Amino acid sequence: MATRRQFIRISTIGAGALMAGAAGFKSFGSGLTNGQKATIAALTGRTPTYCEVCFWKCAGWVWKDNGGKIKKITGNAEDMNCNGRLCPRGTGGVGMYYDEDRLKTPLIRTEERGKQSFREATWEEAFDYIAEKIKKLSADWGPESLALFTHGSGGKYFTTLLKALGSPHIAAPSYAQCRGPREVAFQATFGEALESPEPLDIRDTRCLVLIGSHLGENMHNGQVQEMSDAIDKGATIITVDPRFSTAAGKSKYWLPIKPATDLALLLAWINVIISEELYDKPYVDKYTSGFEYLKEHVKNMTPEWAYGITTIDPTVIRETAREMANAAPAVIVHPGRHVTWYGDDTQRIRAVAILNALLGSWGRRGGFFRAETAVLPEPPHPPYPAPKRHWKTEFPDLYKLADTVLSNGVCAATVPDPSRNWKFRGWIVNGSNLIETLPDQANTLKAIDALDLLVVIDTMPMEITGYADVVLPECTYLERYDDIRAVPHRKPQIALRMPAAEPAYNTKPAFWMARELAKRLGVIEYFPFETIEEQLDWQLKHLGTSLEEMGKVGVKTLDRPADNLFFAPGEDVEFYTGSGKIELYSGLIEEAGYDPIPKYTKHEEPPEGYYRLNYGRAPMHTFGRTSNNPNLTDLMDENSVWVNPRVAKEWGLSTGQYVHLVNQDGSRSEFPIRVRVTERIRWDSVYMVHGFGHDQKKLRRCYGKGASDTNLITKVLIDPIMGGTGMRGNFVTFITDLGKAEVAS
Ligand code: SF4
Repeated sequence: MATRRQFIRISTIGAGALMAGAAGFKSFGSGLTNGQKATIAALTGRTPTYCEVCFWKCAGWVWKDNGGKIKKITGNAEDMNCNGRLCPRGTGGVGMYYDEDRLKTPLIRTEERGKQSFREATWEEAFDYIAEKIKKLSADWGPESLALFTHGSGGKYFTTLLKALGSPHIAAPSYAQCRGPREVAFQATFGEALESPEPLDIRDTRCLVLIGSHLGENMHNGQVQEMSDAIDKGATIITVDPRFSTAAGKSKYWLPIKPATDLALLLAWINVIISEELYDKPYVDKYTSGFEYLKEHVKNMTPEWAYGITTIDPTVIRETAREMANAAPAVIVHPGRHVTWYGDDTQRIRAVAILNALLGSWGRRGGFFRAETAVLPEPPHPPYPAPKRHWKTEFPDLYKLADTVLSNGVCAATVPDPSRNWKFRGWIVNGSNLIETLPDQANTLKAIDALDLLVVIDTMPMEITGYADVVLPECTYLERYDDIRAVPHRKPQIALRMPAAEPAYNTKPAFWMARELAKRLGVIEYFPFETIEEQLDWQLKHLGTSLEEMGKVGVKTLDRPADNLFFAPGEDVEFYTGSGKIELYSGLIEEAGYDPIPKYTKHEEPPEGYYRLNYGRAPMHTFGRTSNNPNLTDLMDENSVWVNPRVAKEWGLSTGQYVHLVNQDGSRSEFPIRVRVTERIRWDSVYMVHGFGHDQKKLRRCYGKGASDTNLITKVLIDPIMGGTGMRGNFVTFITDLGKAEVAS
């Protein structure tokens, strides 16, 4: 059993910590060393922040030297998301501020889209240009023809702007390209979506099951720390993954499943739990509905049945099911996060939810806790105008349970189609590199081509900025205020981000940009506070604190309204489902016209000579967002393709060799990628880290380094229930005859 020391070390501070991450989670002390304490002592002041390098939003302190230069970022010890320790990417956040490739001033396009031809503009010119275009497209096609794609904190203010204008079209790729199926599945089962961070009591769990979730490589800070604690306390880890991930290396059981068959394994586990009567009977009787239907449904889905599909030994399926039951209710079958795989993803995660319900882990210590979130008042404003049109009406009968605007739906409803008389005309894209985020790049480019207006707000010149009509350069999170962070956790907690430095170059915060546009578009009443400081102070006073106090403490923990983190013995609980129970048989999904209990369906297999493309995360990067970060590229500056030795032998591949990948539709990786021959991947798959292979030349550090998996994802398996874009149905093969020049590039 791995110990905490052997496992993942969340860094505390500075470059040493970054190296700890790079070295594959080698030991790094949880407290500061004397040298680090001395370094900190030499710094003059600290400013509270919360990290923007990923969605986890860990709270920390930004430290400056005597000359006022930002030197370090450390975790805030009071913060429940990070417990005082940032991950390698978080400490590397300083690199975002110092990156010399940053966007520096507003830009207006001078030639056709895609050509990097812009002229520098003043903020007034940029805003006037945008406002005039928005007024025209609103007058001609309605304000609903304007959509926002948003990722990151600044999107909040553009959301207010769009709603004020009368558009409901606020899309987040984090839904349809990531966690959407999970939210719908848990909503249908328990009556609640999971949100971020997920309410998992990992630190007290006795058994953690990870299905395609490579915790530790995806550095979800608090969860990684709690997993490490749980391992120290003897918890069993079961990892299901065609790849021997870092988490698999710390597991009692690694199930190297045949890709695309996870649902069969889940149904077989449910079969064992029910047939061997291992489920939590009093819990199931009291809290769930539909048990008899479920029992009948899975009766033939035995481990032997699943063996033929998954290649997992029936003995192992039984053993692992019993491990879970022995630990119950302190067991978590992890719901995952990036779950858009094969198009039946809502159903797969429904099976995860059902398994948790049978084991009685929802609402129980070591399982799922009841999260609390601090509620901040909305700044006072008039009611938003009622939109007259919604993208969903363009696609009647599809994606009935989608509860967030789908990025891919907006994209589809932007591409001209003679059968529809309406389409999107303008996009505002905040912090979201859609070219690399949305699958099927050709379709994204078709949509962009058809736009009357594309505004991009970002800190970096990503691929999407090359297609913008106007680029608005946002200052980094170290140079701005943003909304108060209030995320669900064991206790309600708030965190402040305030600027540690003046915005560099001619960059500005999103709050200011959205408000300036609101002035020009006649909706300033939706931004009642002239400055964000006034708005934050007003909000904080409603919670009994102030901007001044938060500036000193950074994080404030509030009391839970009730002592009810877990269900009390025998507690009557009303779930927010149609039946008021945990629905093993989902009325919501049945009403929408889909299977009320998940069914396994077979997915397409790779053609001869092709391998399923799996992709994932590295601990030192967040997608393509950090690929150019000077601190983080020092740790990892390109990705590689993992290839099983059997495949390598067939193709004559060796570690370090560069190849191109080409997929089933003939789509080829733009840049070559280095081969890594390893037993850690099944022979029917290859694996690469997402976020490399940038073709934006203005990203000078990462341009052309590694390959982009998005180049290779042309087949999209849409989840009929909620519209998520399954991206794991693509198969690649190798092009090995590279010329020298190509390899050098
Ligand atoms: S997990 Fe890491 S990158 Fe994400 S917010 Fe926390 S410190 Fe930042």
